Amino acid sequence: MKRIVFATNNEHKACEVRGILGDCRGISVLTLRDVGFTDDIEETGATFAENAYIKAYAACRFSGLPAFADDSGLMVDALSGAPGVYTARYAGEGCSSEDNINKLLDALKGVPQPERTARFACHICCVFPDGRRIDCEEYCEGIIIDSRCGSGGFGYDPVFYLPEHGKTFAELDAADKNAVSHRGRAIRRFFDLLRAAYVDIM
Ligand code: IMP
Repeated sequence: MKRIVFATNNEHKACEVRGILGDCRGISVLTLRDVGFTDDIEETGATFAENAYIKAYAACRFSGLPAFADDSGLMVDALSGAPGVYTARYAGEGCSSEDNINKLLDALKGVPQPERTARFACHICCVFPDGRRIDCEEYCEGIIIDSRCGSGGFGYDPVFYLPEHGKTFAELDAADKNAVSHRGRAIRRFFDLLRAAYVDIM
């Protein structure tokens, strides 16, 4: 069994990834906790790609195993791409999802629906002990609606509306969200790349 570290402490994400990789036999996905990595990794990058690399590199160096990390965020056209890399802390350090959504809805007050287009991005970077790396980035397009809808998911899910589904992320079940989400797409793409080109060096 080949081992790879997913540089996260978020069990929700680890479960999501293992679910998506259910058919990826022969690869065991470990988390930072599984390999005994307890330090905080500071995400100081200016892009999703840089932040994903910082996390993957730290986990690879610590464990001596191939390691990958994701970094995602929301880009709103009417806000010139904000909150971008500040998505998690849009309303300030230590803020809640509620605070973030409130700030976003305030910032978009008065903006008509056709101009509320937005996308989630997810960048995945995988670093190998010999220095090689894989990068991929995928997106999910939607609209920021002006009030919350649905109770599932996390983060900005209740205000991220998918026109082709007629639902917000928060109204989709986990499998349906994985099928269309930025993270689901990026993880599937990443594992295709991994299988195709790099599995021999793991
Ligand atoms: P992370 O890099 O995956 O931790 O994502 C950064 C922030 O983006 C999170 O704290 C969430 O606020 C937001 N985010 C990322 N993915 C999603 C999603 O699928 N739904 C809602 N919010 C998300």
